[in-house]
Amino acid sequence: MKIRDILKEKPVTISCEIFPPKKDADFEGVVAAARGIAALHPDFISVTYGASGGTSQNTVKIASMIQQEMGVTSIAHLTCASSTREQVREVIGEIRSAGVENILALRGDIPTGADFPVPNQFRYASELIAEIRAGGDFCIGGACYPEGHVECASREEDLDHLKAKVDMGCDFLTTQMFFDNSLLYRFLYRAMAHGITVPVLAGIMPVTNSKQIRRITQLSGTQLPMRFLTMLDKFGDNPAAMKQAGIAYATEQIIDLISNGVRGIHLYTMNKPDIAAAIFQNLSHVLGREEA
Ligand code: FAD
Repeated sequence: MKIRDILKEKPVTISCEIFPPKKDADFEGVVAAARGIAALHPDFISVTYGASGGTSQNTVKIASMIQQEMGVTSIAHLTCASSTREQVREVIGEIRSAGVENILALRGDIPTGADFPVPNQFRYASELIAEIRAGGDFCIGGACYPEGHVECASREEDLDHLKAKVDMGCDFLTTQMFFDNSLLYRFLYRAMAHGITVPVLAGIMPVTNSKQIRRITQLSGTQLPMRFLTMLDKFGDNPAAMKQAGIAYATEQIIDLISNGVRGIHLYTMNKPDIAAAIFQNLSHVLGREEA
């Protein structure tokens, strides 16, 4: 099913992200994680794409398994910064052949020291979106950044580029993770003022590992509010307590988002079905999913 239709039909959606294995030896472990998450009946599962393009086979394979064998709609991420246009077109063909109808179209991070863009590369996600839109009837998602993308000179400029990306044919957007909901609310108002009217799914990461989150947020420029930092300081060295606190923090964030009218939550589940299950359990009535 196309995600744009799911978003139209349901008052609130909850979806999950998984990442494919870096080594083939880990393939079965990722499939098991996907099965665990699929058993929770999320509205869809997204499968990320390796920055170097190296895991493209696994992305398509796992997205296809989620849909065909596990019965959950899937979306394959696709990046273009490390590939030629021909390579990207080949992967789009593989996604189509696998019966996956949804693509999250991304530029990807520019590999360190790379000469980018070289001729015959898509330079921005908007160019990739135009290519996918021209080639077939996919539902297309894009990325957005409530705190602005790290490379962009200003948030205004970033929103101008986002508007151009949506105009190229994006059906919906998913946000970078954020830990302060007021940043999302401000972003949503500003996006609306820029004429961006497609659904925006709020990307929420339940944090269960303090070192990992400090590293990720340093790279992405995501702010960590004092309340969140205090929690990391207090529980960061106690994995069981950190897990409980991280799940509680994400749960609270989601309750506030839904209370304020946000209609789509995307969980960065880091291939951990137990954490996704705890959040689904905490929110069963809030999400109206008592039966799922
Ligand atoms: P773009 O939309 O192309 O934007 C990149 C930068 O270029 C921005 O600063 C933007 O303002 C600027 N820009 C855009 N258009 C123009 C223009 N015409 N002129 C000048 N500047 C312009 N990475 C992966 O490797 N694999 C994944 O699976 C993956 N999944 C992700 C999922 C989500 C929901 C998010 C939020 C990010 C994901 N990423 C992933 C990370 C992403 O690839 C990086 O953040 C990357 O640096 C930007 O990708 P983008 O698609 O947002 O790029």
